[in-house]
Amino acid sequence: MPIDPKRTVAELKELRSLTGDENGAQRVAFTPTWAKARKWLRSKVEGTGAEIHNDSAGNFWATLPGRSDKALLIGGHIDSVPNGGWLDGCLNTLAGVEILRRIKEQYKGEPPVTVRLVDWCDEEGARFGKSLFGSSACSGKIDMDETRGLKDKDGIRLVDAVKEHGIDFEKVKDSGKELRNAAAYIELHIEQGPVLLDLDLPLGTVLGTFGVERHAITFRGQAAHSGSTPMNRRRDAFLAAGKMGSAIYEIAKRSGQGVCTIGSCTTKPGIVTSVVEECRITLVQRHLDANALQQMLDEAKAASEKFAKEGNVDVAWERIWNIEPILFNNELIGMADAAIAETGAKPHRLPSGPLHDAAEVARAGVPTVMMFVQSLHGISHNKIEDTKEEHLELAVTAFDKLADKAIRWIAGRVD
Ligand SMILES: [Zn+2]
Repeated sequence: MPIDPKRTVAELKELRSLTGDENGAQRVAFTPTWAKARKWLRSKVEGTGAEIHNDSAGNFWATLPGRSDKALLIGGHIDSVPNGGWLDGCLNTLAGVEILRRIKEQYKGEPPVTVRLVDWCDEEGARFGKSLFGSSACSGKIDMDETRGLKDKDGIRLVDAVKEHGIDFEKVKDSGKELRNAAAYIELHIEQGPVLLDLDLPLGTVLGTFGVERHAITFRGQAAHSGSTPMNRRRDAFLAAGKMGSAIYEIAKRSGQGVCTIGSCTTKPGIVTSVVEECRITLVQRHLDANALQQMLDEAKAASEKFAKEGNVDVAWERIWNIEPILFNNELIGMADAAIAETGAKPHRLPSGPLHDAAEVARAGVPTVMMFVQSLHGISHNKIEDTKEEHLELAVTAFDKLADKAIRWIAGRVD
């Protein structure tokens, strides 16, 4: 029973003209345009005969009941950042709709296991600055106190904005019951980076999402007149911080697939005629392997202490945020590779730098995998975000094969 990937591409274009403008996609969660996109999505899903409801966190669920309650979940997000691209999130959702259609046809209404499409609520966090709202509520990992206090740039509270869309913030974690029978979760997504493009490969299997260590590092020396102080008498906080710039490239290189970024640097007193007394930099390190991430952090700390000693300055570290790597399911990873190979493309495994809803589902203990499709320009969250149409079609085909394998995998474990 074939799917129709060309229909998915046509529907992506339909959604683009319905909810985008000359600056890109405008489906920011909890706005009228997002509600319009969701209404449109509902009309598409209704054709499959699936049971439809929204859970207490505003996630949209469409369910085709099967002979077993054990369910395959297919996820996506129809929300976008402001001036976003035409594929981020909605490709996943619409590929899921196409798979529901195929399954409904093939099994004449009763697949061997239950198949559910979920459109997560506010993946991007564009309005309130906190991503993965619906999926983190569902996984139970949402920080209720932090989220309760969020406001948008106009001072509107998140709790009030979600209420307008039928969500009682205090009850969002009730959505966790949706995962009760979840046996596997799959998600297709544009890569949003240049890895597959550089390898000239259309598709990739995602191994998991990077763990992240985010720190502020402050070097403290002594302010001194830039004319009267000989170089050998200085306690220059910037000199020590500056050495970190090249050190992190060596640390990342030694780690294999890790990445390190110094994203900001501020100096005090910050005037042209003074040696820097205090220099604060921020360091973000990401790796898929928890031990390698710890090693990168240890090496950065050792380097900072060495440079501080060399420059006769002090150094202090402060953790801003961290999250452990989230690894996807090995058996599903194998199925994604096989599904890609069956389309004639070469399988390739890669980690995901960005977090995705899939990471939240995996954290909740559901076996999970993602598939990436190549992004042209390696760019996303921008109206120039694009993927070749032939690659989009290939992605829908491969993703459907993955869904099929996952259904048989779940059914095999039920019997
Ligand atoms: Zn996305």
